[in-house]
Amino acid sequence: MKKNYLLTPGPTPLPPEVCEALSRPIIHHRTPQFQEILKEAHSGLQYVFQTKNEVFILASSGTGAMEAAVVNFLSADDTVITVEAGKFGERWTEICSAYRVNCEVIKVAWGKTVDPKDIAEKLRQNKKIKAVFTTLCETSTGVAEDIKSIGEIVKDTDAILVVDAISGLGAIELKTDEWHCDVVVSGSQKGLMLPPGLGFISVSAKAWKLQKDSKLPKYYFDLGEAKKAYDKTDTPWTPAIGLIIALNEAIRLIKKEGLEQVFSWHRKMAQATREAIKALGLELFSPQAYSDVVTAVKVPVGIDGEKLVKTMRDTYGVTIAGGQSEMKGKLFRIAHMGYIGEFDIITAIACLEKVLYEMGYKSFQLGAGVSAAQQVFAQK
Ligand SMILES: *Cc1c(COP(=O)(O)O)cnc(C)c1O
Repeated sequence: MKKNYLLTPGPTPLPPEVCEALSRPIIHHRTPQFQEILKEAHSGLQYVFQTKNEVFILASSGTGAMEAAVVNFLSADDTVITVEAGKFGERWTEICSAYRVNCEVIKVAWGKTVDPKDIAEKLRQNKKIKAVFTTLCETSTGVAEDIKSIGEIVKDTDAILVVDAISGLGAIELKTDEWHCDVVVSGSQKGLMLPPGLGFISVSAKAWKLQKDSKLPKYYFDLGEAKKAYDKTDTPWTPAIGLIIALNEAIRLIKKEGLEQVFSWHRKMAQATREAIKALGLELFSPQAYSDVVTAVKVPVGIDGEKLVKTMRDTYGVTIAGGQSEMKGKLFRIAHMGYIGEFDIITAIACLEKVLYEMGYKSFQLGAGVSAAQQVFAQK
């Protein structure tokens, strides 16, 4: 029987504690019983976001929280900066454009990171810029942005800093308050080890000031309504009750380890993956700016990248991700976020070796990638 392994940048595997929580009978949400659960979820999210700001829980995928980050703080004809270093940066521009917000786009080549000085320059040229939209980990390229430096720049202006931390939260460092991130959005199915269906958004005092003047149309994602309910430990609409119960289990697991430990675990998983890739003679897509969330690798010349991913999945049960948009067929991505252990990485690398070998890429010794990963895991 084929056994399945999931190493994609969302969804990610579920710990048994989360699966168990998801199987519990449903309860009603307008009850003191659920209020206790919601209170725990709010403070748990503040721990993971490293913030004292409110973190709202939306019943949507991560993109819903991104839309909330646009409609709650802006008005039509406002101007913002969007950083496009891949598919998810482009999504900020698309959402803003859908609401007639003008975007000054900073385009960055796929696989590279934005130079924070370029953001500073644009903010200097246009004092009317209301917000800077960035991405913590650009999942399409595997690259992490220097949010800390960007925060240092944006904090001294009237603009708010908005960070898409959908794939990075709970996997790599993000200090929401210390780094001056005004609005941080995330989702449930990445580092937080849950099924898809929850969006999260934190809001700073500086962002609430913009929220008061915002005129973009909104209803379901109106954070003004969410705030009124939050203050009474309630939600404006029916929350995703079952997922919030499971969220508390997931955060309990993270707290038990401690955030620092969780981050260093991800570093180790990522390092082992990168060493394995190099040992196979393959090239990292971004050797300078990789993240510890997902490793993007160039498909070697002569190999059909889409077939590689498909064979790993359909023949051997190991699901990794291919390239998106302009990198379709040219990249494959192994995610190592959330509930991933040493032997998930070993399995994925072993499968990669096997399929590459079968497809005719043989410029490595079978087992070389596995051995390189083992060497990393053997280090204390
Ligand atoms: C997955 C992801 C998204 C999209 O989230 P959905 O939950 O699919 O809506 C947005 N940004 C980044 C960086 C992501 O990794």
